[in-house]
Amino acid sequence: MLESCTGGLVYSEDLQTCDWPRNVPCNKQNSVESADQENVNIAIESKKDTQPNSREPRKQSHPGKANLVKIEEPEQRPNIEAEILRNIDEEILDSLSPQPSILNTITHGLQNRNSITKSHKDEEKEFRIESTSKSRTQSTSIQNTETSFGDRSHSFEKLNSDIPEIEFHSDTSDIEKSLLASYPGESKHLDDSHVGSDIFYYTEWDDPIYDQFQDYDYVDSDSASDFQAEKEKEAEKPVNKKGEILLDLSRYPKKLPRTTEGGPEHGDPARVCDKAKCQLPDCRCGGPQIPANISAKKMPQLVVLTFDDSINDLNQRLYTSMFHPIRRNPNGCPISSTFYVSHEWTDYGHVQNMYSDGHEIASHSISHSFGEQFSKKKWLKEMAGQREILAAYGGVNLEDIRGMRAPFLAIGGNNMFSMLYEANFTYDSSMPIYENRPPSFPYTLDYKIFHDCMIPPCPNKAFPGLWEIPLVMWNDHKDGRCSMADACSNPPDAEGVYLMIMKNFQRHFQTNRAPFGLFYHPAWFTTPHHKEGFELFLDTVTEMEDVWLVTSWQAVQWMRDPTPLDKIIDFKPFQCDYKERPPRCDNPKVCNLWHKSGVRYMRTCQQCPSIYPWIGRTGVANSLVDDL
Ligand SMILES: [Zn+2]
Repeated sequence: MLESCTGGLVYSEDLQTCDWPRNVPCNKQNSVESADQENVNIAIESKKDTQPNSREPRKQSHPGKANLVKIEEPEQRPNIEAEILRNIDEEILDSLSPQPSILNTITHGLQNRNSITKSHKDEEKEFRIESTSKSRTQSTSIQNTETSFGDRSHSFEKLNSDIPEIEFHSDTSDIEKSLLASYPGESKHLDDSHVGSDIFYYTEWDDPIYDQFQDYDYVDSDSASDFQAEKEKEAEKPVNKKGEILLDLSRYPKKLPRTTEGGPEHGDPARVCDKAKCQLPDCRCGGPQIPANISAKKMPQLVVLTFDDSINDLNQRLYTSMFHPIRRNPNGCPISSTFYVSHEWTDYGHVQNMYSDGHEIASHSISHSFGEQFSKKKWLKEMAGQREILAAYGGVNLEDIRGMRAPFLAIGGNNMFSMLYEANFTYDSSMPIYENRPPSFPYTLDYKIFHDCMIPPCPNKAFPGLWEIPLVMWNDHKDGRCSMADACSNPPDAEGVYLMIMKNFQRHFQTNRAPFGLFYHPAWFTTPHHKEGFELFLDTVTEMEDVWLVTSWQAVQWMRDPTPLDKIIDFKPFQCDYKERPPRCDNPKVCNLWHKSGVRYMRTCQQCPSIYPWIGRTGVANSLVDDL
């Protein structure tokens, strides 16, 4: 529903959220085109030559509103999609809004405004290396069909097996109606818990009134000490309030271990990166330099595929098709990706399925709002709050929720990064980098960011050991650049889409092999030729023996321990041992919960909450952020 969109945004059916395309265009030269048509064609040919590959699993080695700033380019292509979205009548959008348990297949494409790609000019020769890619069938010979992946012989222990199930009712009581009627000037979004004798009424936390008094200034110690104290207090004596869920805080994520001393402290003014002091695994200066002096030919090409926003019936079939078991990495493990999950409209049964299948679940906030002016406390409630929600209802182990992406890529400068540091997140993946030739590797925030700040405010203090997986921008087929792949201008047919993805891939693969990011919203794939072109790309790269489709967290683990191709097959973080994860959620229960003057049907295989989870009331009894 529309009221779920804050900050003056509208709901986009196309994007299935309040998003609008984040597209930072450039028009510096008319015919500049980075496509390397020849090499793309070679890739296609090489694919055709490839024999079918059974890609059987290898035996496991162990058990187991955007502030888009112009940078130097004088002209900008108008952000057409954003304009269209702004002008769409809100009531029409309202009528198009999906319900989580009612399949809504209405879609309206906004992207078919493109024309066919013209001639291309090769600009990349100076960065090119000789391709060493071979078909996987030529070398992968160790196969073992007896080992199954995701062995779940250890049954998943429910965190709250002692808490009785409670029936929920979605009727609107008389008292509720009178409350709604008696506050005509106030928020009409009242929620209640229909449980027991306690009936609580809540005004929406995302009401703009709550944003206005936030302390916007960065203060090193404001909620930090509160938060630490809260963590310690809760860890000592978890209390199970009636009808609420208790998380296992012993699995609260820990900071990455540090092996080197010295360097800047948290909150110091960020200085220019000191390469002598900034050493892996703890620290990494940004830029295109290949880590650990590995030659480009010996570099595994990591491909990091991510999806943003809610996971629900509208996109589940897409993921089933995309992650067909035939698509595997060179070690036989299924390819995996990272889901930056926002709360609203999310089906937590599906979250559990994706997690159980080996994908990474990360935080994309509860309310999906612009956060550039959030206080640190508000960031905590949004991002760490969503981490708790994902753990409570999606069955995701707390320690596995390591990263975040800011909605609309609207990061919150030092407040946001300080929140990440204090809440023991491992990485952020929200900052675009315009420069893409050659592309940058992920880096830590011990020092000053080395690139232009595309969407301010960017951090200018030190956050030691916190990783940034930047969104290295793509060149689209209209000479624009885009940080999210679905904000690119796309060609009108599948082959064109495939070629555009490949030319961007080649800019990584043929230069320094920095991780290649594909950052999508699922709605983009509802256009059939997008999906077709994309899956052709997947088929191409999963046939290449030096290409790995991994999660954001796996990419960070590789950065911390850069491992060349000849040893990569045994690289532990790329194995697929999911024994610690819950089984799939095949029969979710439906929790009927009151939210924003309507009933929400939230599905989960965990315990139903007594209230619709939201900012400041996750439904988690021992929440570390609700009471901040
Ligand atoms: Zn989003």
